[in-house]
Amino acid sequence: MEASVATPLSVSVYVCPDGHRTLALTSLPEACHHRASRTKPYCGKSVQPLSEASADVQQKMLNPLKASKKASKNK
Ligand SMILES: [Zn+2]
Repeated sequence: MEASVATPLSVSVYVCPDGHRTLALTSLPEACHHRASRTKPYCGKSVQPLSEASADVQQKMLNPLKASKKASKNK
């Protein structure tokens, strides 16, 4: 039986400090490629592997609204 050759071995997920998610198929992305809209510039912040990101950043990525609510509530 041959495994599917079309499936990548792994897709790495990277996040920038703002919680934007960047997927990397082959190599480490140099900067966040998130854009708020087509007319805005790229975010451009440096990214780190999701597994190495702080819990805070992971929460931002998973649930931006909840994270910001929690932050404002935390006064
Ligand atoms: Zn970003």
